[in-house]
Amino acid sequence: MIEEKFDAIVVGAGMAGNAAALTLAQRGLKVLQLERGEYSGSKNVQGAILYADMLEKLIPDFRDDAPLERHLVEQRFWMMDDNSHVGLHYRSDDFNEERPNRYTIIRAQFDKWFSSKVQQAGALLICETTVSELLMDGDRVVGVSTDRLGGSVYADIVILADGVNSVLARKAGFRPELDPGDVALAVKEIHFLPQETVESRFNVSGDAGVVIEMMGKITQGMMGTGFLYTNRESITVGVGCMLSDFKKQKVSPCQLLEDMKAHPAIRPLLEGGEMKEYAAHLIPEGGYNAIPRIHGDGWMIAGDSGMFVNAVHREGSNLAMTSGRLAAETVLELRAADKPCTARNLALYRHKLDASFVMKDMKKYRHMPGILHRNPQFFTTYPELVNQAARTMLHVDGEDKKSKEQQVRKNFTSRRSLFGLMGDAYKMWRAFE
Ligand SMILES: Cc1cc2nc3c(=O)[nH]c(=O)nc-3n(C[C@H](O)[C@H](O)[C@H](O)COP(=O)(O)OP(=O)(O)OC[C@H]3O[C@@H](n4cnc5c(N)ncnc54)[C@H](O)[C@@H]3O)c2cc1C
Repeated sequence: MIEEKFDAIVVGAGMAGNAAALTLAQRGLKVLQLERGEYSGSKNVQGAILYADMLEKLIPDFRDDAPLERHLVEQRFWMMDDNSHVGLHYRSDDFNEERPNRYTIIRAQFDKWFSSKVQQAGALLICETTVSELLMDGDRVVGVSTDRLGGSVYADIVILADGVNSVLARKAGFRPELDPGDVALAVKEIHFLPQETVESRFNVSGDAGVVIEMMGKITQGMMGTGFLYTNRESITVGVGCMLSDFKKQKVSPCQLLEDMKAHPAIRPLLEGGEMKEYAAHLIPEGGYNAIPRIHGDGWMIAGDSGMFVNAVHREGSNLAMTSGRLAAETVLELRAADKPCTARNLALYRHKLDASFVMKDMKKYRHMPGILHRNPQFFTTYPELVNQAARTMLHVDGEDKKSKEQQVRKNFTSRRSLFGLMGDAYKMWRAFE
């Protein structure tokens, strides 16, 4: 039973929780971090691309010993039809820089390493302990109770970095119930292959790697995307769609992934691999308009719990790390000014987030979720039309090119009408505005 009072309690040892606990402990605060999993990372699921810049701000020399898989030199984007795809592809030798910007990682290993840094900085991490309740004194959060420690633990501030479900924030009324239209359900597998096979299949060597992002028919009319990442000796493959769409269409996520893996563009990339890991997880994809209240008397919310995910660019871990760090820096600044962690003073956290890329990017894409929800043609009709156009133009059969162009145009207008095409172009502009 812990009787002491801490300067800060951090709930969760994922990206946001580790960033917050590390920042606070590095500055000498007495930090208690509680994690329900057996160890940091044991419950965490991610694709996973790690964005170096945000980690560098916390651990500048992370490249010395972090378990990194491959640095990314190539990004592909595929628009999928049933048996074909049209792709964009960017590869640059500039990405072979001394301090690469993006890496693939395996979360269970990475989080364990991240957590070791947090503990070395002096935070007390207790695993296999679920925080069951926030302790209140009136409207103010003063501590937590758990399923294991027996009794209550108190602190000046509680940072909720407990991930997308954030049962605690919901129970306390800080956040509404999760709307199935605001979360994606993603499933992923890791397929193990010899390192040489991964490298020859993707035309890379050393620790260089490739990412493929996919959209179109693979999600069977649902709003979502697929992904494939190269690790050192494995390939991660997965797909995620809005939970509301899964409910409506009654498609099983496992079947969706099986069908996607059978696509002629994907099957050969996985051939001969041994599947050793399967995981499913929610991703908060409701965007800016779904962000709940993120601070109040004695509490702040960071990471997925605050819905900080930029689904367009598949960024979440970097927003989690940044919001965790900014929450911690807010506490440090208030303490330096001898100010308590009241809701009014913690508004500084919101200001810091607003001034950072986190809120700027979330705001930029605020129209995206609504537009995509209402316009399934972006996941069905357009990928089909674009693939058909490519097929028509590339098939050499004696028909002249002008007639082929006319056929492509006719195909587009017969499926969406001129007015529909113009409307869709406007919607896309607005979504990316
Ligand atoms: C399939 C998939 C692919 C993704 N791909 C990418 C990608 O490529 N790049 C990227 O940047 N992002 C990606 N994301 C998003 C990214 O994983 C998340 O944004 C990020 O992990 C959020 O970190 P977090 O710390 O907020 O939450 P989490 O990492 O979920 O951590 C929350 C922690 O809190 C613990 N916890 C929860 N409740 C309690 C409680 N009551 N008591 C104690 N502990 C508790 C959990 O066990 C967990 O360890 C992906 C997500 C998924 C699901």
